[in-house]
Amino acid sequence: MKARLSIQEYATGITAGDRVILGKALSLVESNLPSDQQEAAQLIEKIKDKTGNSIRIGITGVPGVGKSTFIEVFGKFVTDQRKKIAVLTIDPSSQLTKGSILGDKTRMADLSKNPNAFIRPTASGNTLGGVASKTREAILLCEAAGYDVIIIETVGVGQSEVAVKNMVDFFLLLMLAGAGDELQGIKKGIMEMADAVLITKADGDNVKHATEAQAEYQHALHLVPSSGSNWKPKVLTCSSLTKKGIPEIWQMIEAYKNQTTQSGFLEENRRQQNASWLQEYFQQLLNNDFRRFADVQKELSDLEKQIVNKEISVHAAGGKLLSSYYKALKKHT
Ligand code: GDP
Repeated sequence: MKARLSIQEYATGITAGDRVILGKALSLVESNLPSDQQEAAQLIEKIKDKTGNSIRIGITGVPGVGKSTFIEVFGKFVTDQRKKIAVLTIDPSSQLTKGSILGDKTRMADLSKNPNAFIRPTASGNTLGGVASKTREAILLCEAAGYDVIIIETVGVGQSEVAVKNMVDFFLLLMLAGAGDELQGIKKGIMEMADAVLITKADGDNVKHATEAQAEYQHALHLVPSSGSNWKPKVLTCSSLTKKGIPEIWQMIEAYKNQTTQSGFLEENRRQQNASWLQEYFQQLLNNDFRRFADVQKELSDLEKQIVNKEISVHAAGGKLLSSYYKALKKHT
């Protein structure tokens, strides 16, 4: 295949369900080159009528809670229902440490061989907003490629959950029984964002703990105000080992989709999400534009050093940088 495809070739390949072309299109979306970003924007525009038909599910939880094992088993269940599933993972650690918590290749080994499943770690980026914007584009491409279920997986360490909540229809929080909320780094705000809490590893000796935890969390969620969807957050248990509880999770998500489609919340929520996407996207555009100018970039790193040496204040440096940016703009336009 040619290295570069035309927008039309991308669009035709994606809508025909060609996984190789979908993969290439996702690389285009992930690229930080301005010319690629322009093409990606054109591609999204071209396929936009074919989007919106999936259920978008966010999944989060601390490392070790069982996310990848769950997605593997859940993904198999979904494909057995003759549905196609795409899994996009956001790994915030790759931005912070250049390492990765989620992104090793051995995760979801079986699902990645399934012809009706598509697994892809999403781009790392300079900012969470940038990553989020690219993930939203990836969702749209996967929808155009006919995926019925789209999972956005993120590791539960804070910021990225809010970004994910803002791009999905259903937000599923995975929790361990008996580990304590603090130990799991779960902030109360994240519990409040969940449409369902799933207690994992409910098998063997752990069944009792899981059932107790279920009652506790159900009680805690009663106190949480409704999010506007009129959906009462649920607490379920499951085991990816025995597969117990897996069908119920799918049934719950279908019930949510039916209820919120009928009430109009699903559509309204997506519209609101698009509005906040604009904000993120525009910030990204500004950020990229700023990075066009090597001399302003150099000034930024010089000013950083001066700040470290306490030679200038953050506000003064920010003002200087902005006026240099304006000057650079004037010179180049
Ligand atoms: P992640 O870091 O959240 O993706 O967690 P993993 O899916 O990698 O699971 C972490 C560990 O928990 C692995 O050793 C799994 O084998 C184990 N595990 C995952 N799901 C279950 C389960 O349902 N039951 C039991 N007993 N162990 C599980």
